Amino acid sequence: MADPSECNVKVVCRFRPMNEAETNRGDKCLAQFFNDETVNFCKMQYSFDQVFSPDQTQEHVYTACARQIICDVLQGYNGTIFAYGQTASGKTHTMEGQLNDHLKQGILPRIIQDIFGHIDSMDENLEFLIKVSAEVQKNWDCLNTGDVTKTNLSVHEDKNRVPFVKGCTERFVSSSEEVMDIILKAKVNRHVAVTNMNEHSSRSHCIFMLSVKQENKKTKQILNGKLCLVDLAGSEKVSKTLAEGSVLDEAKNINRSLSALCNVISCLAEGRRCHVPYRDSKMTRVLQDSLGGNCRTTIICCCSPSSYNEAETRSTLMFGQRAK
Ligand code: ADP
Ligand code: MG
Repeated sequence: MADPSECNVKVVCRFRPMNEAETNRGDKCLAQFFNDETVNFCKMQYSFDQVFSPDQTQEHVYTACARQIICDVLQGYNGTIFAYGQTASGKTHTMEGQLNDHLKQGILPRIIQDIFGHIDSMDENLEFLIKVSAEVQKNWDCLNTGDVTKTNLSVHEDKNRVPFVKGCTERFVSSSEEVMDIILKAKVNRHVAVTNMNEHSSRSHCIFMLSVKQENKKTKQILNGKLCLVDLAGSEKVSKTLAEGSVLDEAKNINRSLSALCNVISCLAEGRRCHVPYRDSKMTRVLQDSLGGNCRTTIICCCSPSSYNEAETRSTLMFGQRAK
């Protein structure tokens, strides 16, 4: 099933505007934009499938790099979008935005609305079965209201060798309102878990999955597609002198899983028939069937334009270049 040559990887880059703190401190804006595919950062030029400058709207970003995923998923592909970048670079803004604000909504709410809109307009002979799950990669199941901090959810494979997270709650849903309601509750659950455990939400990956099974009642043909949206943990290096003990271990873990992701993606992007190292991290195992085989993957590299973040932004841009 997993044929890397069929995999389609797109890497885009989005710069957020300078924020007030950066401006007040007198930081320089190091990014310059000349066209839709290149950015100059600190005198170096980087090219991507698409570059979004700070003034580009949520709607534009969605239309230009995410909306296509709906058609993919409804045609039986697995579509995955990652947001990569240091903390406060705009990952959550891009993926979620303000969920209830028409202009400031990010990719997730827009996809949910559009996917149900599409389904409503499709052939009446098609029957849809849709389910969602949400997991924070600290093994927290965000849809489980009873016991959010259930730990050690482990990755297993079903009889078709499709990986799944054992014990992770899945919900069947029938409308975009229902999904949005679930997402809002999952956010609260996540927040409670993060606060209770004295954690930082930026130190975990957050994965939202929506799977769509469609059956044609006449022909009995079945199509399975899956949408995955991943808000990755902050990619910043934790200073070795400041972090120690469990914080340092955790930082190392995050760095390991991000570089495992990069290795998998660059392997897929090259289309080589090489060994794809899915098993190197839990995240790449969970996402194995969303990354290999009949998948469409988009990585959004989120960046700060400020001189204060120069090293981290460079590192994010380099990650993007490697993944291409
Ligand atoms: P991350 O999830 O990477 O830690 P956030 O998405 O929370 O970062 O963004 C940090 C702050 O910057 C938030 O207040 C967010 O609203 C703001 N922000 C990020 N990207 C943009 C953007 N493109 N336009 C306007 N504000 C943004
Ligand atoms: Mg965030």
